[in-house]
Amino acid sequence: MSKIKIMNEILSNKIAAGEVVERSSSVVKELVENSIDANSDEIKVELIDSGVKEIKITDNGSGMEKEDALLAFSRHATSKLYNDDDLYHISSLGFRGEALPSIASVSETILKTSTGDVGTIITYKGGKLISTDNSDARRGTVITVKDLFYNTPARLKYLKSLNTELSLIVELINKLALSYPNIKFSLYNNEKKLFNSDGSNNLLKVVNEIYGLDVTKKMLHIIGENDDYDIEGFISYPEITRSTRNSIVTIVNGRIVKNIELNKIINDSYHTYKEESRYPIVVLKITVDPSIIDVNIHPAKQDIKFSKMEELKDLINNLITKKLSEVTFIRNVETKEKIIASNYEKPIFNLERTIDEHIVDSEQAVFDFEIKENTESYNEVEITKEKLPELYPIGVMRGTYIICQNENGLYLIDQHAAKERINYELYVKLLGNPNNNITDMLFPINIELPYNEYLIVNENKNILENLNFQIADFGINTITIKAHPTWLPSGYEEDAIRRIIDIIIMMNDKFNLEKFNERVAINLSCKLSIKANENISITEMENLIDDLKKCNNPFSCPHGRPTIIHFSNYELEKLFKRVL
Ligand code: ZN
Ligand code: ZN
Repeated sequence: MSKIKIMNEILSNKIAAGEVVERSSSVVKELVENSIDANSDEIKVELIDSGVKEIKITDNGSGMEKEDALLAFSRHATSKLYNDDDLYHISSLGFRGEALPSIASVSETILKTSTGDVGTIITYKGGKLISTDNSDARRGTVITVKDLFYNTPARLKYLKSLNTELSLIVELINKLALSYPNIKFSLYNNEKKLFNSDGSNNLLKVVNEIYGLDVTKKMLHIIGENDDYDIEGFISYPEITRSTRNSIVTIVNGRIVKNIELNKIINDSYHTYKEESRYPIVVLKITVDPSIIDVNIHPAKQDIKFSKMEELKDLINNLITKKLSEVTFIRNVETKEKIIASNYEKPIFNLERTIDEHIVDSEQAVFDFEIKENTESYNEVEITKEKLPELYPIGVMRGTYIICQNENGLYLIDQHAAKERINYELYVKLLGNPNNNITDMLFPINIELPYNEYLIVNENKNILENLNFQIADFGINTITIKAHPTWLPSGYEEDAIRRIIDIIIMMNDKFNLEKFNERVAINLSCKLSIKANENISITEMENLIDDLKKCNNPFSCPHGRPTIIHFSNYELEKLFKRVL
C-alpha cells in the first residue's frame, strides 16, 4: 500500500509558508530532513561547488517503493502528514511535502531509492520526467541534484559567493548533527571532507567535532526539568564567547528552533560573567509535550510558539546561573610556543599567549577532559566553597594590578575590576532591600534639569523616595535633595544622585525596577571604585582580596571583564626555560 497520501486542500493551504527552495542550502535542508524522516542513521552530503553544480545525498533510510517515489515528485504529496490534527501535534521534521517537485523543477534531479527489494531510479529535468527504471536493491535513498537553478538565472544570480553558500550548508549540517547525535553525518565539498559526526549519540562529541577540543574542554553540562519541560545541554565557560548569537542553538523536540526570547534568556543568564557584546556557545535540547507548542507559526524561519514561555525561561535561567555559580573561573595564562619554519629553514620562536581557564579548588581538581562514550557520565565540576584560593599580596604594579602569590604561582588582580565587582554586589543587595538609614545633608543638593527631563523625574519621584532620598521641589527645573540613603559613599553624593537621575530619565516610561537597580549598581560601582594608578597599602590589598572572596562571582567585573588571572609555576618556568 502507498505510504504517501495526497494532502487535502485545506491542509496544504494551511502550510502557507510557501516554497523555501531558494538557495543550495535550502535544497540540502529539505533533502536531509527527508533522509532523517526516513529513519536513516547515516547521511552523507557530497557537494560540488558548494552544491550549485551538484548536491548528492546518500542515506540508509527506509527508501521508497516505485509508486511512492513517483508520487513524491508531484505536488501536495507527503508521507508525513495526513490531517489537520497531525499538523498541530507534529513532532517529525517534515511538513512540506512540496520540496521535491520544486527542486526537480529547477535542476536535473536523479532519485535512486529502494526499500531493500527492487530499486527504482527516476530522472527529472526542469520539472519533466525523463526516465524511470529499475535499479539495485541497496536499502536507502541516493538523491542527486545537478545544475541547480540552470533554468532560473534570476535565482542563480541571487546566490551569494560559493563560500557564503558553503558556510550556510556547514552551519546547517552542524546544527542537524547537534539535533541528531544518533545520526552519523558527513559533509564533503569538492571531495574535501568538511564535517563528520560519529552517530554515537554523544552530544559532547558533536560539539567537539564542530568547535574543537579547546572549546569542548570548557563546556559545562546542564540538566533539569519542570512540570512541562525537560532540558539538557552544554553551556560554554563565560570566557568562550563569539561575536554573534549563531552559536546559541536550541533544539525543541529534535527540531532546531530560532526563538529570540530563548536566545535572549540564555544570553542574559551570563549577565556580568561576560562582556555584553559577546555571546556564549550553548546547545540546549528542550523536550516538551507537542500540545503546548505551535511549530507552524513560521516554518521557513524555524520559529516556534510556546504556551508556557515564562516557566521555560525561568527554568533555563535557573539552570545556567546555578551552573555558572558553582564553577571556579580563574583565567589561566598559558604560553604556547609556535615553531614556524621560514624559507631559510630556520625556526622562529613565536610566543603566543592564550588565556585559559582553570578550575582551582582545595584539592586542585583540574577539569580532566575526556569524551566519554556514555552520555550519562559527563564531567562534573566539583562545587567549591571557597571560590578563590589563599592569595598573598606582594605589591601593586603601576597602581593598577595587585601582584599576589601562593603555592600555585603568581596572580594579578585588576584592582579597579575587583573593587567594581565588590561594590556591584553590595549595591545590588542594598538597592534590592533599601534600609531606612538616611543621612541628612548639611547643604541640600540642587539638580537643575532641562524642563522635559525635570518633568520625567518629577513624575518618577517615588523611585527616588523608595530608595530613601528626600526630595523637595526647589523651583522650576530644579530638584532639591535634602537627605540620601547612608550607603551613598561620601564625597560622591552629588555625582551618584546625578547618575541615578540620568538612568531614570533614560528609562522613562520603560521603567522596570529590576533593570533600574541593575543599571544603578553597575554605574555606581564603576564610578566609585578605585581608579587605576592608585597605590594602596598591603593591608588595603588584603581587605580587597577578602571582600572579593566573599562575592558570588569574584572572577569578573559587572562588565564581564576578568578580575584575576593566574600564571602557574609551570607556565613561569616554561617562560624562563627552566622546563621544556
Ligand atoms: Zn569600571
Ligand atoms: Zn568593569
